[in-house]
Amino acid sequence: MYINRKLNESLTTFKSLHFGSYNRPKSSHRYKVTVGIGGNVGDVKRRFEHLFTFFKKDKRVELLQTSLILKNPPFGFMDQDDFLNSIIVLQVSMQPIAFLDYLHRVEKKFARKRSFANAPRTLDLDIIFFDNRFIKTDRLIIPHASWFERQSVVIPLMDINK
Ligand code: ADP
Ligand code: MG
Repeated sequence: MYINRKLNESLTTFKSLHFGSYNRPKSSHRYKVTVGIGGNVGDVKRRFEHLFTFFKKDKRVELLQTSLILKNPPFGFMDQDDFLNSIIVLQVSMQPIAFLDYLHRVEKKFARKRSFANAPRTLDLDIIFFDNRFIKTDRLIIPHASWFERQSVVIPLMDINK
């Protein structure tokens, strides 16, 4: 069951039991991590629900919060379906690179195939913030390099921080 709200011609938000109202304050892990999730191939809402269940069950992470889901147009490569994006907040004890590797394994589990930049994808998991860290290496930039200029990040983030 989703409650839809049309923000304008191109943006729609969706809320469900697991996305937009889930909030769990406590965790035994060390770092708080904000993760952007996105996809535009197949039944993305269903995949997000599976991802929610996956994170809930996985002892390596604690799921603290989820935002609403935002439907928004693609950028970069335009000839593809709209994206669905959401923000989830996890608590982890892994270090940033180990956590990036972990997210890549989760993407793989959810059938992600890497092709070209901004290509259609089943599931994209990006680290937006990792605790209060600033990192700039070849493999990892934190905070995420363009989080502040993407509707797909900023609108779900506003929902998390409301
Ligand atoms: P996209 O830029 O479309 O998300 P990918 O998901 O394929 O593309 O990610 C490409 C690479 O970006 C990853 O292999 C990773 O090393 C790098 N990267 C740099 N900073 C981050 C970050 N904050 N979160 C996730 N990946 C990052
Ligand atoms: Mg990515």
